[in-house]
Amino acid sequence: MTDNAPSSHFIRARIDEDCAKQTYGTKVATRFPPEPNGFLHFGHAKSIFLNFGLADDYRVQCPQSACNLRFDDTNPIKEEAEYVDAIREDVAWLGFDPASRVFYASDYFERLYRCAELLIQAGLAYVDSQNAEQLRNTRGTLTEAGQNSPFRDRSTEENLQLFRAMRAGEFADGTHILRAKIDMASPNMNMRDPAIYRIRHAHHHRTGDAWCIYPMYDFAHCVSDAIEGITHSLCTLEFTDHRPLYDWFLARLAELGEFTPPLPQQIEFSRLNLTYVVLSKRKLIQLVTGGHVDGWDDPRLPTLKGARRRGFTPAGFKLFAERIGVSKSDSLIDYSVLEDCMREDLNEHAERRVAVLDPVKLVLTNYPEEQTEICHAPNHPQHPEWGKRDISLSRELWIEREDFMIDPPKKFFRLKPDGEVRLRYGYIIKCTGFDADENGHVTCVYAEYDPDTKSGTPGSETRKVKGNIHWLSCHDAVEAEVRIYDRLFSVAAPGARRPDDPEDMERDFLDDINPEAKRIQIGMIEPSLATCAPESRFQWERNGYFVADQHDHSAAKPVFNRTVTL
Ligand code: ATP
Ligand code: MG
Repeated sequence: MTDNAPSSHFIRARIDEDCAKQTYGTKVATRFPPEPNGFLHFGHAKSIFLNFGLADDYRVQCPQSACNLRFDDTNPIKEEAEYVDAIREDVAWLGFDPASRVFYASDYFERLYRCAELLIQAGLAYVDSQNAEQLRNTRGTLTEAGQNSPFRDRSTEENLQLFRAMRAGEFADGTHILRAKIDMASPNMNMRDPAIYRIRHAHHHRTGDAWCIYPMYDFAHCVSDAIEGITHSLCTLEFTDHRPLYDWFLARLAELGEFTPPLPQQIEFSRLNLTYVVLSKRKLIQLVTGGHVDGWDDPRLPTLKGARRRGFTPAGFKLFAERIGVSKSDSLIDYSVLEDCMREDLNEHAERRVAVLDPVKLVLTNYPEEQTEICHAPNHPQHPEWGKRDISLSRELWIEREDFMIDPPKKFFRLKPDGEVRLRYGYIIKCTGFDADENGHVTCVYAEYDPDTKSGTPGSETRKVKGNIHWLSCHDAVEAEVRIYDRLFSVAAPGARRPDDPEDMERDFLDDINPEAKRIQIGMIEPSLATCAPESRFQWERNGYFVADQHDHSAAKPVFNRTVTL
């Protein structure tokens, strides 16, 4: 937690009110409820920081506060155990360890079933035997009421018997559903006798073949919240119209003695929308299975696994969550806000190193051939206590190709024929010539160094030059694969229509993929970078922030990813 007071928002105001009134005694209980049917993305990070963050903050005044990680695994078709492990890892990576507070909605299947029977016994639910088409045709529209099912008035006994037969596996998928008996004329479609259970003869990743009926989201979610004693159930705005149903189920079950008030309350907030990415599992799956990226942890993807490999930091996400805040109105956040948060965190915490991404040779013609000497480079300009490291200088160096120009524009302060620059942490040099091939491509630059100008020695500052370039010594620089990542999409709203092109009615978000989002270069790095641990993050001076690849980096074959530019 930071020292700063957490930013206030409408959900905090609601919770503060509940604390003042002691609505829930001395606790604030939230949950983060992912469905284990995919990998977590940046949008989930917002929800994680909100839910876990609130529980952490309120624990000071309400000691029993906690946040549960609940796997919302009530749909056997799309869910898999591998996602459960990946989600747990991602939550832990963001800094929250739910430890003993990991739950599975599937653990409540028996209790959920009992709640359904209670509703049947109270005349509040019935088995409907209409087929899918009939169900669709009788739902009505936004302006027209639905029609009551011909099965709506089945007796309690018949409903119970049918529901038990559903559970016993006596019916095929789609032949019957259990519905709440509410109001087919409700202006809210969600209240028109919504489904509670459906038949699905499918294997579940945790309960195996024990069940062939599965509860629907709207029923399972509120009941799970009540079972866990959740106080504030935070979800995204598209569930606003589901809230009356959430309240209906819990109020009825409380009347039937199944739950004791105070009951959990659902509060909606706006989901995270970001430019230049897609944040929907369906689209992310398309990117991965279509081979547009190299797997779920591709650094270009807005998944948390991808972010980690890209070098994004948990602290950067926390900063981002604070900065975007929590509100009720939909908004589109510019991707640069996220990048700025990562920069801010990395600028503060990443050690500095030198790498030359596009090397060209520089020969110091007046420097003795066999000589090498040490220059001292600070690990972090604002943290002198982090010390300095040695970089060795010799006659032959690598410099950045773009730092030398034969015929530069006026304000070019780097190296040019007859021009002077300082070799960062080293000497002032003067360009004396260069070699180029027949295409004008520079192959070598020549310069003379001034021995009286070494950085950090007395009098070295008396001569001033405008340019300051980075370099590495040819004799000890190490070759590295450098993966230069950029934004995955080249437009802010992938797949959106282009207003300036009326012909362009239907567009595919895949057409907006930025082909330049991944480039591989062979660069030169400081020797100490080669031996760093995977996932070590650095600022490469003048080049941006880079991370040693989580999977592919080794001392024998260093691999770095560009996290973000400076
Ligand atoms: P998707 O829309 O990508 O399929 P989802 O909503 O189906 O995501 P869940 O696993 O159901 O994913 O989400 C778990 C939690 O994360 C939910 O509480 C959901 O509201 C929240 N969440 C998902 N996407 C976002 C988002 N973009 N911004 C904020 N919260 C989100
Ligand atoms: Mg969902």
